[in-house]
Amino acid sequence: MVAVFKEPLSADDVKNKVRELGANLVGIADGQIMNDNPPDPADPRRPSDISDYDAGRVIVIAKRLNTGTTRINRWDERHKYYNDELTTTTLEEIALETVFWLEDKGYPALIVPPSHVDPWRYQGNPDEHMKPLLSLDHAAVEAGLGTLGLNRQLLTPEYGPRVMLAGVLSSVDVAADARREDALCLGPECGRCLSACPGDVIQHWDRDWSACDRYRSPHGFPQLTEFIEGIIGEPDNMKKQEMLRSEDGFNIWQSILRGSGVVTGCRRCQDVCPVGDDYETMLKDALDEIPEATDEKTLRLADMLKSEQGGDLPNAYTQHDRWIGKLGYHG
Ligand code: SF4
Ligand code: SF4
Repeated sequence: MVAVFKEPLSADDVKNKVRELGANLVGIADGQIMNDNPPDPADPRRPSDISDYDAGRVIVIAKRLNTGTTRINRWDERHKYYNDELTTTTLEEIALETVFWLEDKGYPALIVPPSHVDPWRYQGNPDEHMKPLLSLDHAAVEAGLGTLGLNRQLLTPEYGPRVMLAGVLSSVDVAADARREDALCLGPECGRCLSACPGDVIQHWDRDWSACDRYRSPHGFPQLTEFIEGIIGEPDNMKKQEMLRSEDGFNIWQSILRGSGVVTGCRRCQDVCPVGDDYETMLKDALDEIPEATDEKTLRLADMLKSEQGGDLPNAYTQHDRWIGKLGYHG
């Protein structure tokens, strides 16, 4: 029989262990504060919805993306998908080891995966954006790791948005971190994420999430269903065979094999963001120029800035100001 015991732990004990396991950043959010402040009150997805007993703390673990692939300008580059998928795997292993370590100390724990969604909420429309079970970007802000940017990506002072996140729920009784109050994002005055976005899906403190999914997951479920529907609907058998053997089919097969191109994909907005200690020294020389920028995008950003300077902030900001933070870039 396993004895029930709880070894006293401090927040530093937990964080040191997570870093020792290979994480680059770690923060601890108070589960109750997250329960009280769901990002979308109309569709709350709270730690307590996942576990009644073991969600007192949300330990948010971040692993940085590797720099070599970030320096590649193309958004749809297989090395990026593949390297990022391996980063996800490493992150999941760190999270799992954290769970076992906490449980050996007497605290039941579980992982909130970075990319899984709730299949019970799927409505039969592959193009519908499926929100995660718990927004780890919002959890990371509650855990003091950073703030959300113009397109709602998490920005950290160390690596900007160039991190992947995993969450561990546990009611380990350690101090939670404080949320950062000031925005790290430089807002539309910067707008580099919007200028670089290949799908032009970035809005004023928001993004078109369904449109983004086509890029973030370029060989994902909608593309798979479209591919199969195309083959089923093709009357010519020779053409059917050609479609099966096409590059699209090959990409989908390769993506299913490892998840690269499904759970990983476009991250051009993360690559070009100037926030983060890594940007000046490791990235700027390769990423300063933005070939996707257009006059129309520049004008749109200027309009956003003008309306903000006139005191007019969109609902997308006011509904998320808790996590975006106080804007200080033109004040
Ligand atoms: S992931 Fe790609 S498509 Fe989505 S917002 Fe970022 S740059 Fe745009
Ligand atoms: S690129 Fe600029 S506007 Fe976009 S998130 Fe980063 S700092 Fe904010």
